[in-house]
Amino acid sequence: KVLNKSEVKWSFEELGGGVCGLQPGDRMMLVLPRLPEWWLVSVACMRTGAVMIPGVSQLTEKDLKYRLQASRAKSIITSDSLAPRVDAISADCPSLQTKLLVSDSSRPGWMNFRELLREASTEHDCVRTKAQDPLAIYFTSGTTGAPKMVEHSQASYGLGFVASGRQWVALTESDIFWNTTDTAWVKAAWTLFSAWPNGSCIFVHELPRVDAKVILKTLSRLPITTLCCVPTLFRLLVQEDLTRYQFQSLRHCLTGGEALNPDVREKWKSQTGLELHEGYGQSETVVICANPKGTKIKSGSMGKASPPYDVQIVDDEGNILPPGAEGNVAVRVRPDRPFCFFNCYLDNPEKTAASEQGDFYITGDRARMDKDGYFWFMGRNDDVINSASYRIGPVEVESALAEHPAVLESAVVSSPDPIRGEVVKAFIVLSPAYSSHDPEELTRELQEHVKRVTAPYKYPRKVAFVSELPKTVSGKIQRSKLRSQEWKK
Ligand code: ATP
Ligand code: MG
Repeated sequence: KVLNKSEVKWSFEELGGGVCGLQPGDRMMLVLPRLPEWWLVSVACMRTGAVMIPGVSQLTEKDLKYRLQASRAKSIITSDSLAPRVDAISADCPSLQTKLLVSDSSRPGWMNFRELLREASTEHDCVRTKAQDPLAIYFTSGTTGAPKMVEHSQASYGLGFVASGRQWVALTESDIFWNTTDTAWVKAAWTLFSAWPNGSCIFVHELPRVDAKVILKTLSRLPITTLCCVPTLFRLLVQEDLTRYQFQSLRHCLTGGEALNPDVREKWKSQTGLELHEGYGQSETVVICANPKGTKIKSGSMGKASPPYDVQIVDDEGNILPPGAEGNVAVRVRPDRPFCFFNCYLDNPEKTAASEQGDFYITGDRARMDKDGYFWFMGRNDDVINSASYRIGPVEVESALAEHPAVLESAVVSSPDPIRGEVVKAFIVLSPAYSSHDPEELTRELQEHVKRVTAPYKYPRKVAFVSELPKTVSGKIQRSKLRSQEWKK
């Protein structure tokens, strides 16, 4: 149903029609902004057995070429903005056979998706797939290097989100779920696999630019019940005066993909009365730790292991460590690999094999588990700082900094030091009200502040004020970029 010029509403029945002549197992790259067609094509892929490969609309020609060549996709579906970039490189991508455009205008060499859809028959048979047949290939965010191709099966995503996200996302038939994530990221799959099997409605907003006011106004105007945004976005939302907004129906808020600073959670809660439920997962897994609705939240913890996963903290040989010890976050894959788990890193058996140690899959993240089973994230393996025999997780320092009103956001990395080997360095983006303060004075004040709110040895010995932090297109801070700059100097 067309609600007005810029809004449409589709029933589940309308989503049923299949599209495009792909054979089961053929790969289709799906690069669309947050347009309702993304969800339609996802369903079409599942019904025809085509493997979908989501991508971000900001991809450059080089990124596109890398992805199309690496995945050997037979088809791509995209919108006007990316089509010229696809044309510029398609001669170098011999596997690519069909190009589909979601647009109201036509383009030579491209099929028009909306026209095809109008003419498509509503009669079709769904293919029968096996649990281990591939469903999707995700490129990881590329926070630490070139994005990896992660292959998921029909079972891992199709059922994984139903199983592992049920208590955390907690959607029912009466809910309307808004997940602001870009369609390229695994978080967008939650809208498919945790919302629809539970019969809940999803809301999609194109949001060409992240704009806190637009998000807050939308929540006030529409009966959205469940909201999911990355922590970076909540960080922006809490900069606004939230008491000026009256949300119509919002009752459950979710976040994940990066560490949530306790300060952001507390600000959101005190101004909206709503709890923020953090989850932790990877493109390789589904949600492996979470703070489900109605359970006790310990501020700063990413929650407990999410069923059916057995999540443990292990040492480098894969031995389980006792509560309180820092180690690798790991998921048991032997004797039985969880059904909601990636098949492999595509075309990379060495990397797939290297991701396991003993009975466990090693996430590459470091954390502690307390005696109650709550996990406390320290950082990615490479991000943990070793200073004069202390091990310091960047997130602890960033969270301490976030409590100071001068700090809009920060990234903490190691920096070389002749005596200590390495020391803590903080790159800080200042809140507008503090931008003209004396940097030396502010440095001292922030250092004292960190010493006060956390163990003093964690305070940043070096501080740099910057106008922005390097981030992936999904909004994650790339600490590895800052670190390599530091060590190159
Ligand atoms: P790449 O593997 O290409 O470097 P990436 O690891 O950022 O990129 P994703 O699979 O999108 O790609 O992200 C998973 C990672 O995000 C986790 O391994 C973890 O480091 C981080 N992460 C996810 N959720 C949380 C959370 N709640 N708290 C802290 N970190 C999180
Ligand atoms: Mg990763």
